[in-house]
Amino acid sequence: MELFKLKDYALEDTIAAIATYPAKSALGVIKISGKKALRIISKIFRPARKKDMKKVKTFTLHYGWIVNPLDKKVVDEVLVSVMRKPFSYTREDVVEISSHGGVLVLDKILKLVLREGARLAKPGEFSYRAFINGRVDLLQVQSILNIVEASTEKALFSAAEQLKGDASSFLRELKERIKNVYIHTQAIIDFPEEEIEIEESRVKRRIERIKKDIEKIKKASFWGQILKEGVTCVICGKTNVGKSTLFNSLIEKEKALVTKIAGTTRDAVEESVNIGGIYLHLYDIAGIMKSKSLIERKAIKKSFQKLEEADIVIFVFDYSRQLSKDDYLLLEKVKNKKVIYVINKVDLKRKIDLKKIRQLTPQIKLSALKKTGLDRLKGEIASLVSKEGLEKENAIFLAHWQREILKKIEENLRKALFYLDKKYTIDFVNFSLKEIIEDLDKIMGVSLEKEILESLFSQFCIGK
Ligand code: GDP
Repeated sequence: MELFKLKDYALEDTIAAIATYPAKSALGVIKISGKKALRIISKIFRPARKKDMKKVKTFTLHYGWIVNPLDKKVVDEVLVSVMRKPFSYTREDVVEISSHGGVLVLDKILKLVLREGARLAKPGEFSYRAFINGRVDLLQVQSILNIVEASTEKALFSAAEQLKGDASSFLRELKERIKNVYIHTQAIIDFPEEEIEIEESRVKRRIERIKKDIEKIKKASFWGQILKEGVTCVICGKTNVGKSTLFNSLIEKEKALVTKIAGTTRDAVEESVNIGGIYLHLYDIAGIMKSKSLIERKAIKKSFQKLEEADIVIFVFDYSRQLSKDDYLLLEKVKNKKVIYVINKVDLKRKIDLKKIRQLTPQIKLSALKKTGLDRLKGEIASLVSKEGLEKENAIFLAHWQREILKKIEENLRKALFYLDKKYTIDFVNFSLKEIIEDLDKIMGVSLEKEILESLFSQFCIGK
């Protein structure tokens, strides 16, 4: 496995970092990894029971004190765990010091560790070593990142699944199968006098099965993307149908889970809420269609932009008013979107002609003001998201570039099937399969390019 080595992440150095959040807390952990880890700890740690720290067994825990070797002052009472190579996270000698959690204590211990010859770890450098040394593959590295960043339970559990390596073994298995077909086509090329007709139909069946599995991965990665990044949901409808009221009612119940999205302005209001385990970014956009005022025109433009980006649209009608030109104009704007139609203000007297919008489904009648029917709307949102063919247990977290490669693989599979159908020479199929194998390698992080590695590991916090 040829891997690009990042030059700033020199592997021969012994690295150290505070692994816990540096704040006043009960415990703090300092991690050290590399050749000098045991030597360093033996210099600054005085075990309660006398022993040579350089010689202790792997997976052992030691009680004692961190002592400054220069002035012999005790810094803290700690527990030290030792994990010797190759059975540690980084596959190197790893020492973890559990101290009390104060900022100053952690800082002092870290400084002692650095003075004895370690260097401060760069973001994600522990995981980088685990990756380079074959302890985890790229998909697992990404899952660690997702565990740290998970904002809903579903996202957390799916990331943990990926860390276990299920996704990786599925991809590896798939690659083996493609390799077998590839070898098969190679045999057809090398021994053309054999019974090619029969052989080619077998190749086709196998490629079709592989294509199905790639589709599965795509769906799982789409689900992963939703769990991680959430779904953008825009509430639209003409003025005064109750968009803002609905927006507030939707977020109110989840108030504790609500966070503001930074860097956005008031004309498309937004909040993120957890609805049925899905992270929903909710936008309430301006309901006007035309305006003479420049500011309003700008707001309208922004609204339509948001509408364009939306994964889901909640389209609001007013039960107590007749349908108007604005309703129809807006409906036109969302005709290619996934829409849930809400008929709001059912607590009032009906004026709307329901027959005219009967064909618009799914349709939910509710009162945003009286807060009735909201649960049905939430249920509909959750089911619309999962209708995307998502097998919830099988989410895979892939980065954008990996999803792009998946698309290319799909395209190559489609081509291979086309060549077989049109009776092109098998060389074409053979070539497509070769590209697919290389692309699968890329997804799993074999032969990764430098920028990709760098941007991936720089997303980690120091100490991971
Ligand atoms: P927007 O312009 O679409 O954002 O509409 P608003 O949310 O500002 O609501 C317009 C008016 O309709 C306000 O006076 C709301 O109190 C009222 N309203 C909203 N939802 C309901 C509802 O379900 N029932 C009743 N009776 N009034 C509502």
